[in-house]
Amino acid sequence: MLRPDAKAAAVGNAVDQDRLWDLLMRLAEIGALENGGVNRQALTELDTEAKNFVIEWARARGFSAFQDDAANLFVRMPGAAASQDPLIVGSHLDSQPTGGKFDGAFGVLAGLEVLESIRQQGLTPERPIEVAAWTNEEASRFLPGATGSSAFAGTRELSAVLDNRTVDGARVGDELAASIAATRAELRPIHSVRPCASLEIHIEQGPILEQAGLPVGIVKGIQGVRRIQVEILGETAHAGTTPQALRKDALDGAARIMVSLRSLTKDDDDILRLTFGRIDSFPNSPGTVTDKVRLTIDLRHPDKAVMDKVEGLIREVAPAQAHPCRTEVRVLSTVDPIAFDPSIIGLLENCANMMNASGPLMLSGAGHDSLHLGRICPTGMVFVACEGGISHHEAENAKPFDLALGTRVLAAAAWTLANR
Ligand SMILES: [Zn+2]
Repeated sequence: MLRPDAKAAAVGNAVDQDRLWDLLMRLAEIGALENGGVNRQALTELDTEAKNFVIEWARARGFSAFQDDAANLFVRMPGAAASQDPLIVGSHLDSQPTGGKFDGAFGVLAGLEVLESIRQQGLTPERPIEVAAWTNEEASRFLPGATGSSAFAGTRELSAVLDNRTVDGARVGDELAASIAATRAELRPIHSVRPCASLEIHIEQGPILEQAGLPVGIVKGIQGVRRIQVEILGETAHAGTTPQALRKDALDGAARIMVSLRSLTKDDDDILRLTFGRIDSFPNSPGTVTDKVRLTIDLRHPDKAVMDKVEGLIREVAPAQAHPCRTEVRVLSTVDPIAFDPSIIGLLENCANMMNASGPLMLSGAGHDSLHLGRICPTGMVFVACEGGISHHEAENAKPFDLALGTRVLAAAAWTLANR
């Protein structure tokens, strides 16, 4: 069991609410929008400006800054044992086109506040601590999301991403090169660092903490996401002349599949998320019986076995309900769920208790960089309440007190892991 000691408490208590808030507001000026949000999409000049803002902060305090081939940025506090694998504390600086001030940015700046708190206590951790800003978590400008953290963790090859195009038509490889050239940090090979552990703090992006009146929650895992496409193949016919009994109506088949799956997957614990988010219907004409439907199903759950079971159910239900139409089922994309390391969850709970911030253990409904970090090292996340659960929106907001309290938990845990 990992327990924070007196020094961890001192580091946590050294977190300064006003200093953190001031840093958040200064960063939010880069890409600021009229209604209080930011537009700082990945690998744009504004994104690079944000990275250089962080680098200046680091240099002013004697910390070094590095970047890698995926344009991930690292601010490094040296450890007493320089050769030890570092602890990584990170999140992302990029935003949605009409994003908020806190999604991602809070996680990076809270990491800097952890370094500042350690420095002000005159302490040196045993292991180095690196604050990371991962490239393109949001995927608003180009795919895939979490480009930087997935390349770093090796869950996706960076080379497979380079020829992708941004929404404004640029080649991702060229944008990466331009951003790296304009970022004032030394380049190092992407797989030259292997973290001993990883932490991330993030606004919740949901309403659970606020509704419970709790500032901080400990994340136990991130649910998986699977997109499944069901193609229903019928026969086109005239809407007026063809008797119902003789039709092979693909849209009727899709409707039966949806109703059947909705009732068969009813989850009393309300953990399973099944969404029929998209229907493409052909020929999509009001006077014609539909001969082809593409139904895209979004399936989310924290347990891969349940996801597999529901996929199996879809494969069974689709042909049975679509009859006399034919069906083809295929998985378009899948991201497995992750359960965070129990020792890190336990440590974060202990740190939360110590900082009088005890909150619930909760599941993340949204994806995060930690999903990828968690594949290569013990990883944990802290959530902080956000106003109305709103994010990916200019109205995104959080309380200075809550942000600082969450950062205290993060700081105590970071100190403990860096001295293990
Ligand atoms: Zn985020």
